[in-house]
Amino acid sequence: MFADIARISVKAGDGGAGSVSFRREKYVASGGPDGGDGGNGGNVVFVVDTNISSLVTFKYKKKYEAKNGMPGAAKKCSGKNAEDLIIKVPLGTLVTDAQTGRVVADMSDGEPAIIARGGKGGWGNVHFATPTRQTPRFAKPGMPGERLELQLELKLLADVGLVGFPNVGKSTLISVCSDAKPKIANYHFTTLTPALGVVRTGEESSFVMADIPGLIEGASDGAGLGHEFLRHVERCRLIIHVVDVSGSEGRDPKEDFEKINTELERFNPELAERKQIVAANKCDIATEEQMQDFEEYVKGKGYEVFRISAAIGEGAKALINKTAEELSKLPPVKRYEPEPKLEEVTDSKSFEITVDEYGVYVIDAPWLERILGGVNMEDYESLQYFQRTLRNNGIIDKLEEMGIEEGDTVRIFDFEFDFVY
Ligand code: GDP
Ligand code: MG
Repeated sequence: MFADIARISVKAGDGGAGSVSFRREKYVASGGPDGGDGGNGGNVVFVVDTNISSLVTFKYKKKYEAKNGMPGAAKKCSGKNAEDLIIKVPLGTLVTDAQTGRVVADMSDGEPAIIARGGKGGWGNVHFATPTRQTPRFAKPGMPGERLELQLELKLLADVGLVGFPNVGKSTLISVCSDAKPKIANYHFTTLTPALGVVRTGEESSFVMADIPGLIEGASDGAGLGHEFLRHVERCRLIIHVVDVSGSEGRDPKEDFEKINTELERFNPELAERKQIVAANKCDIATEEQMQDFEEYVKGKGYEVFRISAAIGEGAKALINKTAEELSKLPPVKRYEPEPKLEEVTDSKSFEITVDEYGVYVIDAPWLERILGGVNMEDYESLQYFQRTLRNNGIIDKLEEMGIEEGDTVRIFDFEFDFVY
């Protein structure tokens, strides 16, 4: 079974809770706080494994959870950080948020990507002792780890994609000009998995060619085999459109040519704009008239066309040389840039302030919750940071505009403080 699309859910580990504990020593009636911090939850990390060529494992296992951080303990013992959960994916896997379509990562280079972040461990009560509060009986809980529904899509990384009807000779062509050895057979749909091959064009130069399984009419609507494979063409810099010019299957080459192009355009209009070279294949069994008729038609549409006979390797050299020349003028293989989360985008903007029946100013800003979770209200620096955040994002200005006065109460989630200028 070959799979190039899958949906999975991932959950990073939660941070461990901070500990509430007090020293107990001989002859010391009540010691100070000594509760340690919780450990951080594990991240969910994707890495590329070039030995994997499909997403089939994700058809069977769909839920992935990294471990939680360990809670802190007495004697200032910090909880252990959880290990990252490493998930191996094939090269070229595009990871998007299944709910929003946001690009999370494009696994098309060797770099690992943190897909979901583990929650930070909470501070133990040892951090909360002050001269006036010797026995803090609280600690911070750990922050929750990120949870995501993901869509994984394998989009091959190839310079050139071979497209065409089944049986026109795509697999034969890739086998004569590259190191790929796909199955070749005289019946439809032999090619069920895209094959990649390296085409050498010189001592130091080469490009990657992909044999995209046969497209059939209606493929872009998901009517049959082909649709799912079109995604592999999306990254290709150039398309070689293979046509059986001899009409050996009883079809008309010109019609074939139009149908495939329509399919490409319907799948993604960008594909209609992609550089395309036409390979008129099976010239060994075509008549001169057939070849000329087809060539005239295709040239009239502005394409370059090459006569080849893949089975005997004839004409392939000229086609490959032209392909290499065109590639040198084209931009590199498309890579998708990760997009920030919506809440990160709206970060500094969105908040709402209302005054409740007791005259308390209530600030509603979901993005502040995370920041607040990390702030230690007993710590001067930490508090300063928090106040700066409020000021920098216009919240203080807004409060003043609403007529807040010294000593009025402000509430953010479950945290309340008195307003001071
Ligand atoms: P694909 O489905 O497009 O990958 O087509 P294949 O490469 O599997 O070829 C389908 C059939 O056409 C096989 O029987 C090949 O031997 C045959 N074939 C491929 N190229 C040529 C050619 O140039 N001339 C002739 N006569 N037959 C060819
Ligand atoms: Mg094939």
